[in-house]
Amino acid sequence: MITENLITWQSRLPTWQQALQNAVRDPQELFALLELPPDLLQDTVWENPRFHLRVPRSYVARMQKGDIHDPLLRQVLPLQAEQLPFANFTTDPVGDNAASKGAGLLHKYQGRVLIIVTAACAIHCRYCFRQHYDYRENNSSELQAIYNYIQSDNSIHEVILSGGDPLSVKDSRLMELINLLATIPHLQRLRIHSRLPIVLPERVTPELIAALTQTRLQTIMVVHANHAAELDNSVTQALRKLADAGITLFNQAVLLRGVNADVESLVQLHERLFEQRVVPYYLHLLDKVQGAGHFEVSETEALSLIEAMRERLSGYLVPRLVREVAGLGYKLPVF
Ligand SMILES: *Cc1c(COP(=O)(O)O)cnc(C)c1O
Ligand code: SF4
Repeated sequence: MITENLITWQSRLPTWQQALQNAVRDPQELFALLELPPDLLQDTVWENPRFHLRVPRSYVARMQKGDIHDPLLRQVLPLQAEQLPFANFTTDPVGDNAASKGAGLLHKYQGRVLIIVTAACAIHCRYCFRQHYDYRENNSSELQAIYNYIQSDNSIHEVILSGGDPLSVKDSRLMELINLLATIPHLQRLRIHSRLPIVLPERVTPELIAALTQTRLQTIMVVHANHAAELDNSVTQALRKLADAGITLFNQAVLLRGVNADVESLVQLHERLFEQRVVPYYLHLLDKVQGAGHFEVSETEALSLIEAMRERLSGYLVPRLVREVAGLGYKLPVF
């Protein structure tokens, strides 16, 4: 009975919300889907981390079966290695707590304020710098408080919707927020930082596009892809729909050992993105967040990768290599 109700209720949700709900959460199921040997699971996987496994099925379908080193799998599989201590890896690596203004607002940089729209994400990326962030302490449920803060500071010209993933909320909630922001005269731009067009392209519906384009604010979207294998047909179509709607698209990636820390992967990623009119923005050095030490790439190695990319790519296809330094007024370029 309960199961039936659940199924009826789910089938009334839009497809993308069903896909969001039906994400794989069990490492054993993931191993079975990928035809990986169970003894490998026992030896390497952390079965019950607090920041648990979460990956959409359409993303799993893009992984290579039988390959434990698959670059997409690496990004989502909780490893026992996450429990090892690494010096200088902390729970608040980028100083989010100090930049918090309450009501889900982070105000670090001049002219821009970031709203943590939700704690929810479609996928749990193991290197996420907000994996320990206390979303209950600073959430965006009070629209009036958000409005008051931005309204009273006319140096703010751009609002960044972030999270969690801001596109994991319903269209109605998104519309409510965007409509409210549009009433603040000194705001010019709306920027959305989202991984959903990459990991759950079903999210890019006509309704979403309408919500993002029927506003007086100029809309920019910064997507987050780390590897060309993430960009299958469904993703490229979603990106093209966004671009066709006049939304300016950028990509930010994180440089990750075992995922994309080689020239070939980086070249392919940025060429493939640009085919969908996504312009490279940042390549982030890993934020030193507890649990992600095994992904780290040294600054020296990162620089030689960027140099190698410069030799192969048009200038505009080379992202800016940056490191986020807590307390600094911009993302620090690494030369
Ligand atoms: C990264 C970030 C921004 C945006 O910085 P840009 O360099 O403009 O992309 C804004 N606010 C916060 C809190 C950030 O972490
Ligand atoms: S989608 Fe972004 S916020 Fe969510 S887990 Fe991944 S990196 Fe973190």
